[in-house]
Amino acid sequence: MRKKYICGNWKMNKTIDDSKVFADEINNKELNDVDILIAAPFTNLKCLKKHIDGNIKIAAQNVSQFSDGAYTGEISTGMLKAIGVFDVIIGHSERREIFGEKDDMINAKVKRALDDDMNVILCVGETGKIRDEQKHFDYVSDQLKKALRGVCPSDKLTIAYEPIWAIGTGKTCEASDAEKMCANIRKTIKDNFGDIAQDLRILYGGSVKPNNANKILGMDNIDGVLVGGASLEVDDFVRIINYKEQS
Ligand code: PEP
Repeated sequence: MRKKYICGNWKMNKTIDDSKVFADEINNKELNDVDILIAAPFTNLKCLKKHIDGNIKIAAQNVSQFSDGAYTGEISTGMLKAIGVFDVIIGHSERREIFGEKDDMINAKVKRALDDDMNVILCVGETGKIRDEQKHFDYVSDQLKKALRGVCPSDKLTIAYEPIWAIGTGKTCEASDAEKMCANIRKTIKDNFGDIAQDLRILYGGSVKPNNANKILGMDNIDGVLVGGASLEVDDFVRIINYKEQS
């Protein structure tokens, strides 16, 4: 049984002080029995680890493919683990599109993080153009295979399907369409890596809000959500965590 996984991605938002206020607020809320994670800017990780309820996992939004050395501006898995952070998002579409991260680099980062015993949320997803051309299933399968080349997936890996056209746009993918893609992702994992596919969690991300979370999370192959904008406000994020109460 795959436990539902509600993940927030703060992107480049919130200072340390904002993080502390968020932690104090969410610590006082009643939360559904789901796994919860917040991916915060590097500068806020230590503060969140200290102040937020220990049941909420704290993640980085990126990590280097290198272990140490002359890589100005990079953060290694070892540095994250030294402050108690064992989770990381890799391959977010903003890293791919704005910072030019290519499949090979994402593959190297996934390998580095998994080899160093971290939990990885690997993001995949197509542009609107690719979907309009009806090439999205093949595109996402290909992205997945490239990111996982030479990797032996375990339950330390989570896949997030994030159609780029739905991120930060308010255009949510229909729950049934997201389900079809997540089922296709599971099939790709099964065809390439076997039975682990049944245990891997697959998330949907792209304009998830309190009013659509319930429907999305009701799908068989959608084991959770990766939430950008709506994870910044405690009330919205908690309403998504408590999605069963929002019909
Ligand atoms: C994201 O950045 O991963 C995301 C899904 O953003 P939003 O929820 O704002 O669309």
